[in-house]
Amino acid sequence: MRIVLVGPPGAGKGTQAALLAERLGIPHVSTGNLFRDNISQGTELGREVQQILREGGLVPDEVTIAMAADRLAQPDAGDGFLLDGFPRNIAQAQALDELLGEGGHKLTAVLDLEVPEDEVVKRIAGRRMCRKNSGHVFHVEYAPPAVPGVCDVCGGELYQRDDDQEDTVRHRLELYHQETEPIIGYYREQGLVVTIAALGPVPEITQRALAALPEADAA
Ligand code: AMP
Repeated sequence: MRIVLVGPPGAGKGTQAALLAERLGIPHVSTGNLFRDNISQGTELGREVQQILREGGLVPDEVTIAMAADRLAQPDAGDGFLLDGFPRNIAQAQALDELLGEGGHKLTAVLDLEVPEDEVVKRIAGRRMCRKNSGHVFHVEYAPPAVPGVCDVCGGELYQRDDDQEDTVRHRLELYHQETEPIIGYYREQGLVVTIAALGPVPEITQRALAALPEADAA
């Protein structure tokens, strides 16, 4: 399955993507996590994008598309993937279509996570990420770790992302409405969009997603 996950920042894309990817046996590809990994490893790409991420802006398309293409060319993504945070605008969506087309593939579905805006802000304010593994995400209220500040999965230190501060969140939401929301219309024309309500307990949302996805085994 080749799936794209869309939804505003704080919709729970990262959380659901990790769970769905595991259930479906496909890699979770998050461009945000790839950028953060590059930043924490001090790579040239990391240095180039650090400031943009801190301010909640969008990394230029050519950089993002090249990084995503590189990741999707790896063998584990050959039979499918779950994209989280990419594409984030129409140009990236077109680039992804081209890239897949070259290999004779196309997307299976675009899963749109719908969440009211006030809920989004609450979720982001309480979000804590693991320093050791960006896929491990907690929330001080909704998904607290057993020991405050420590990742339940790997013992890594939990921290609040720079771009999860309130001002930056507002900017990211604006960018989402301007740049990213139009891709839902783009994919709707291709008949790919499946919308689910991303409210309620995390496992229920995962079940809802599995039930809504074509070919997925919801059992
Ligand atoms: P995320 O973890 O998906 O919220 O992404 C964190 C940050 O990484 C975003 O606020 C952007 O600065 C950058 N980023 C991630 N994915 C993309 C993308 N597809 N295009 C441009 N910038 C991106």
